[in-house]
Amino acid sequence: MTETILATYGITKSFGALKASNDISIDLRPGEIHAIIGPNGAGKSTLIGQICGSLAPDAGRVELMGQDVTTLSTDQRARAGLGRTFQISALAMEDTVLENATLGAMGASGRPWRFWSAALGDRSLRARAEAALERVGLADHKTKRCADLSHGQRRQLEVAVALTLEPKAFVMDEPMAGLGAEGSKNLTGFLDSLRQEAPILLVEHDMDAVFALADRISVLVYGEVIATGSVDQIRSDPRVREAYLGE
Ligand code: ADP
Ligand code: MG
Repeated sequence: MTETILATYGITKSFGALKASNDISIDLRPGEIHAIIGPNGAGKSTLIGQICGSLAPDAGRVELMGQDVTTLSTDQRARAGLGRTFQISALAMEDTVLENATLGAMGASGRPWRFWSAALGDRSLRARAEAALERVGLADHKTKRCADLSHGQRRQLEVAVALTLEPKAFVMDEPMAGLGAEGSKNLTGFLDSLRQEAPILLVEHDMDAVFALADRISVLVYGEVIATGSVDQIRSDPRVREAYLGE
């Protein structure tokens, strides 16, 4: 049995002459938060895109729970257990919190989108959505329009939408982006508890959050993983300090 929930093997992707991913092999283990850090343009979002299926690698493969998912669509990967939140929010702002979560639950069920209005009256989908909202602490806000939520609450709602799929792994691209100090602190506490449900591959610029949360950190520079290790190992690695922390 594998102790790896999610893994890439030799992921490689070029944009013209630029190698945005160069032979990247990383894994995500049960219960952990594995942070991916690196300067702007290092290839973090490109890597996430290939893991989630919005970008096709030139070479290499992606496995979820030991299953090769490299050729699956983003929706198929989501149904296979990959929970994703986006660097840019994908929520429907004019819809309520509960509607957004129910929409997520419907996506998870694999029903065609034309049944969207019927989904709102579907008790099992609604129950699933409500359970997810309860889990992220938004149960009291379910009739609010998404547009009226704070930034941090929207992030929580995105996680709730992902939770309706009962994910085996989470992949998050800069969830702290745009949050103030207070919001980051709250989300940090929330992600800390979320890892018990499913491990998290976390791309994040907020180093306070990364150092507080990560079990392991991988450092990406020019499309290559130059180091993987614990917080202490990464903080004291001279190559990392030179390449990333600018020392
Ligand atoms: P990061 O998320 O670490 O900031 P990205 O993965 O967004 O980095 O980008 C990595 C590199 O690939 C950058 O040099 C970026 O300009 C380039 N890149 C990303 N997407 C594309 C694309 N669709 N076409 C061409 N170049 C791209
Ligand atoms: Mg990015």
